[in-house]
Amino acid sequence: MNWDAEVDIAVVGAGGCGLVAALAAAELGAEVVVLEKTEHVLGNTASSAGMIQAAGTRFQREAGIDDSAEQMAADIFKKNGHESNPELTLAVCRTSGPLVEWMVDKLDIELSMFTEFNWPGHSHHRMHAPKSRGGLDLINQLRREVAKREDIYLMLQSPVTKLITGDNGEIIGVETRTPNGMQRIGAKKVILASNGFGGNKEMVQQFIPEMADILYFGYEANTGDAIKWGIELGAQLENMSCFQGHASVASSHGILVSWGGVMSGGFLVNQLGERFGNESEGYSEYALEVMKQPGKIAYYIMDEEIHQNLLTLEDYKNLAQLNGLKIADTPTGLAQKLGLPEAGLAAAIEQFNQAVQEGQDSFGRTWFPRRLTPPFYGVKVEPALFHTQGGLKINVNAEVLSTAGVPIPNLYAGGGAAVGVSGRRPKGYMSGNGLLAALGFGFIAGRHAAEHI
Ligand SMILES: Cc1cc2nc3c(=O)[nH]c(=O)nc-3n(C[C@H](O)[C@H](O)[C@H](O)COP(=O)(O)OP(=O)(O)OC[C@H]3O[C@@H](n4cnc5c(N)ncnc54)[C@H](O)[C@@H]3O)c2cc1C
Repeated sequence: MNWDAEVDIAVVGAGGCGLVAALAAAELGAEVVVLEKTEHVLGNTASSAGMIQAAGTRFQREAGIDDSAEQMAADIFKKNGHESNPELTLAVCRTSGPLVEWMVDKLDIELSMFTEFNWPGHSHHRMHAPKSRGGLDLINQLRREVAKREDIYLMLQSPVTKLITGDNGEIIGVETRTPNGMQRIGAKKVILASNGFGGNKEMVQQFIPEMADILYFGYEANTGDAIKWGIELGAQLENMSCFQGHASVASSHGILVSWGGVMSGGFLVNQLGERFGNESEGYSEYALEVMKQPGKIAYYIMDEEIHQNLLTLEDYKNLAQLNGLKIADTPTGLAQKLGLPEAGLAAAIEQFNQAVQEGQDSFGRTWFPRRLTPPFYGVKVEPALFHTQGGLKINVNAEVLSTAGVPIPNLYAGGGAAVGVSGRRPKGYMSGNGLLAALGFGFIAGRHAAEHI
């Protein structure tokens, strides 16, 4: 084969998964090329809140939190109804602690414990996040570390168009369309880190039809390429119906309103000013509840204390600075500003505060940290598809498995390209599962690939 270049490892996609895989592999002596479709290093990772769930870290211990990989896996299984592969889930949970410490100690990435509020399903505080509490900060720091290394070549505007196989079906390289023309790059191992298929309408229609007409809030370039190549190669797909949805993207500005508002004591109403479910179960499944409401929209209701709590998050701070929030001293005043029936919203706030006193409501919600007090805050929100959670089936080394259940030689996958740990349904998504699968399997794939060249 005539190659334009040869490397040890080719990584497809420069999001969180791809950059962590490259850095982990280079640390073990591999020469790596990262091929990125777009002209940017962003991906979904940049849009994320940068919350990385990890158990048993020294940062948790310093904060007095006694957690373990086994407890984290138990929480994930509880949320997904035991629908994710037990071995795979446990493997990535066990990697999470060492991964976060490696990012801080070896990559000099600034991460700190996030204890501002709880996330649905987590029995302990275990989110580790950049100072800004934003994913852009995370990806920029990863990119900075990649730039420092002479053994990692980052090629932008270079979509991989094809995986190249040898005589026995093993992967031997990739084809990429660079600004200087097509190139064939020989690689001893290939790591697929090109995320899922949220940006591909046809594939969403095929695998997750209920989300086909809903706002896609992820990176447009994530068009399921790795999954399509996998199908051609005879790889096994798993849990393709699973996705992370979100119930609350601010309609006016297209900015995420964190579920931290619910976990700090807020709630959602529909156009009639009425609550319609138990928000505290999780934002992913609640997207489907919002979709059942008139106009498929909702209004997020909070108060001053919740607002102050959310201002610690980059996205929310931006929304506040852009005047995306309505504020009023009374429920009726807030209803007027949001265009909701005054009596409806006033009754919803009163009933909610009553439920706080009783510790439960008619929807089964028992998470009531506090009563809402004036001034009240509100914002119109809509549901969205954030990213897909099904993908190529992998083993505990992040090697892609064929339909016969054996590894396709030299091929790895992580992040949204591979099956995640959220099971088969949107309610299986626990906060942090996205970056856990991206960074965790990226770390596992990078190290395993480098060790087995
Ligand atoms: C608004 C939002 C908030 C979120 N917040 C969190 C959070 O706080 N915590 C959490 O755990 N998860 C969160 N998630 C989920 C998380 O962002 C993703 O699970 C994770 O970033 C996926 O990482 P990745 O590396 O697999 O993909 P990405 O970061 O999307 O990177 C994939 C890259 O591959 C490139 N690519 C695609 N096709 C090709 C090709 N053919 N050739 C070359 N390159 C290609 C893309 O251009 C892209 O740059 C959030 C998601 C969203 C949308």
